[in-house]
Amino acid sequence: MKQLLILSGKGGTGKTTIAGAFIKLAEARAYADCDVDAPNLHLIMTHISKARQTDYYGMEKAVIDTELCDSCSICRQNCRFEAINESNGKYEVDSYACEGCGVCDAVCPIGAVFLQPAVAGELMLYKDNGVFSTARLKMGSGTSGKLVSEVKKQLKQEAADADLVIIDGSPGIGCPVIASLNGADMVLIVAEPSLSGISDMKRIIATAEKFRIKIGVCINKYDTNKELAQKIEAFCQERDLSIVGKIPFDTAAIKAINKGEVIVDIDCPAGWAATNVFYKTLKLMNS
Ligand code: SF4
Ligand code: SF4
Repeated sequence: MKQLLILSGKGGTGKTTIAGAFIKLAEARAYADCDVDAPNLHLIMTHISKARQTDYYGMEKAVIDTELCDSCSICRQNCRFEAINESNGKYEVDSYACEGCGVCDAVCPIGAVFLQPAVAGELMLYKDNGVFSTARLKMGSGTSGKLVSEVKKQLKQEAADADLVIIDGSPGIGCPVIASLNGADMVLIVAEPSLSGISDMKRIIATAEKFRIKIGVCINKYDTNKELAQKIEAFCQERDLSIVGKIPFDTAAIKAINKGEVIVDIDCPAGWAATNVFYKTLKLMNS
């Protein structure tokens, strides 16, 4: 099973658009959306059936047994995250503020506070033409990297015989990105020709290089700033990184995306360019 991961240093570069195009072109039997903070691949893969949903438990959170609590306030005084509130003599934990450190459990003299697993999101699995694994992190929850690992584990279990897995990763360089890079055979970085786009591209390249995996770069909307697009190409040449293609800005593609379509489903310059990028990426991954 080969894993092709699609990343971008920042949001809004067209990463998911490219991922959707690749999934269609590859007729992928296994794919995943690891952008667990803001998953949206399911919006363009409209053929998929209803998802099987499973609760995801992240870190533990504190809970106060109000029947037992004698309102001594010791836990509140010792909580450095100010996660314990008092109202009319009753103490309760603010689950959004609680970091699950366990100090309140340790200091409560009568054992009226305890830690318990808390639902931090949901895993979703679609199975029809292919297996599609994804997840959504609950607002204010941590452990996004662990949830990404769960998304990948679910995909591996349900599509063990797939030759190719296409993964839409998260923007940035944080925990979910690190978790999605783990085990990937190649990463395609989608860059855009803007100052912030170049800066973020350099950061994600530096992150991916730590994993010693093949890296390809594709420049999306390259013609919106040809000068900066050339800078991206020059940077990649210096680092001996392959540019697998350039995709033009295309209003037909934007209209298709807004209708929930995949750009290779319509006849348009961006779709043709994405098709070229797809074949060059596969060639590089298999070389
Ligand atoms: S587990 Fe830690 S953060 Fe949460 S309420 Fe207790 S002391 Fe505060
Ligand atoms: S330390 Fe225990 S008894 Fe005291 S307020 Fe907290 S939960 Fe209640």
